[in-house]
Amino acid sequence: MKPVEAISREDILRSLPSIDELLRSETGTSLLPLAGPTHLTALARTAVNHLRNEIRDGDIISSGDLLSAAEVRLSELWNTGKSSSVQRVINATGVIIHTNLGRAPYSAAARRAIAEVASGYCTLEYDLETGNRGRRGSHAEAMITELTGAEAAVIVNNCAAAAFLVLSVFASGGEVIVSRGELVEIGGDFRVPDVLVQSGATLREVGTTNRTKTADYEKAINENSSMMLRVHPSNYRIVGFTSMPTVADLSAIAKKHDVLLYEDIGSGVLIDLSKYGLADEPVVADSIRNGADIVTFSGDKLLGGPQSGIIAGRREVIERIRRHPLYRALRVDKLAYAALEATLSSYRRKMALQEIPVLRMLSATKDEIATRTAEFLERLRSRLGDISNLKFEISDGRSAVGGGAAPMVQPETIVLTIEYVGLSANELAAKLRSSTPPVIARIEDEKIVLDLRTVDVGEDEELLSVLINIE
Ligand SMILES: *Cc1c(COP(=O)(O)O)cnc(C)c1O
Repeated sequence: MKPVEAISREDILRSLPSIDELLRSETGTSLLPLAGPTHLTALARTAVNHLRNEIRDGDIISSGDLLSAAEVRLSELWNTGKSSSVQRVINATGVIIHTNLGRAPYSAAARRAIAEVASGYCTLEYDLETGNRGRRGSHAEAMITELTGAEAAVIVNNCAAAAFLVLSVFASGGEVIVSRGELVEIGGDFRVPDVLVQSGATLREVGTTNRTKTADYEKAINENSSMMLRVHPSNYRIVGFTSMPTVADLSAIAKKHDVLLYEDIGSGVLIDLSKYGLADEPVVADSIRNGADIVTFSGDKLLGGPQSGIIAGRREVIERIRRHPLYRALRVDKLAYAALEATLSSYRRKMALQEIPVLRMLSATKDEIATRTAEFLERLRSRLGDISNLKFEISDGRSAVGGGAAPMVQPETIVLTIEYVGLSANELAAKLRSSTPPVIARIEDEKIVLDLRTVDVGEDEELLSVLINIE
C-alpha cells in the first residue's frame, strides 16, 4: 500500500459532513417537512454511510464538496423510498385486470363518489329521512339484488373474505362437498381446501379432476353434510374429456336433501359478456336463477369496481351472515361503498360497457385500437422530429383479461413496439418504470411492447411525454 494514498483517503474521510450538517443543508431542510425528522435522520445516516463506503472503495478521491455529494445521495434515497409507496401508473401491458397494478381502475363516477365521500362526514350508517341510524351498505346491497335477482346481499372486504365468512357461518363443524376438479389455487394464495379447513369445515371430495357427475354429489350427502360448494376454477381450465353438473342439477339435489348450494363465482360478471369471448364466465344472475342459495364474487375483477367481496343469495341466509361476529371484522369502509354504488349505477343505467373502464377496455375492438395507436404514433413522430434514438413499429398482438378470469381469452390487439438505440429492452423498461408517472410495459422478443387497450385515453398525453423525454 502506498502511504500517500492511505493518508489522503483518511483525509477525505475526515471531511465527510456530519449527519447534522447534512440535515441543515438545503436538501435536508427542504425534505424535512416531507419526510419528518426521524425518517430524514435515518436517510441522512444512510447517505453519509454510502459516501463513506465510496471513499473507502476509492470511488471518490477528492475531499471537494462532499456535502453536495451527500445531498445528492440523500435526495436519491428519498426518491427511491417514495416510489415504493402506492402511486398511479400507466398500465401499457394490455392485461386488463392486473392484480399487481391494483386490478380494476375506478370509473369516473366512482372517482367522483370517493372524492365526495372522502371530503367530509357521510351517511355511512345514517338514514337522512328518519334521522336515525341506517344500515351500512343498504343502497349498494339493494342495487346488487336488483342486478342479480338475489333476495338479499351483503358486502365484505374481498371475495376470499366472503368465502371464508360463508363457510364459517354455514359449514363450521360440518362437511362441504366439492368436486376434485374445483380444488384449485386461485392466484394470490387463495386455496379452496385451505379456506375450508380454516373455517372449521371438513372437505368431502367427490368425482375426479376432469369429470364429476350429479350422482357423485348425491352419494356423498350424509347427516353431517352442510353444503355443496361449487368453485369457478377462474385462472385454470381443464379441457378435453370433462363434465360438471349444472347449477340447476345441483340445486335439485341440494333441495331434496336440505343442504345449501353455494357457488363461488370469483369474477363478478353481471351482464352477458359472451360477445367478448367470455362465455365461460358465469353471470351472477344465472347462478341465482338456477337455484344457488349463496353466490360470492369479487368487486374488483370483471365487475370493475373497488376491492370488495359480494355475497348474494336467499334472504334468511344473508341475514344470518350479517348477524355473525365475523361479518363485523370483514366489513368494508365508506369509500368502498361509495365506489361500488357508483359502479353499480352504471349497470343500472345500462351504461356499463361505456362507463366502466375494465368493460370499456374489454369491448374495445382491434380496429378501434389500431386507429388510436396510429394517431398516437403520428403525434409521437411529429413531436420527436427526425433525429431520435427511439424506433417504433406497429404490429398485431394479444391482450389478456387477467385477474383470474378467462385464461383462454386473449383479445386481438394492435401494439406499439419500441426500441431505443443503445438500450436493451430491460434497460428501456426500467427507464419507463422510473418515469413520472411510471409506465409499465411488456417485453416480447427483446422489445418493449405497449398495448393502448389498457391505457386510458386521458393518459395518452402523459404517455407521449414520457416517451419523448426518455434519454
Ligand atoms: C379471485 C377469486 C377469489 C378471491 O377473490 P379476492 O377478491 O381476490 O379475495 C375467490 N374465489 C374465486 C373463484 C376467485 O376467482
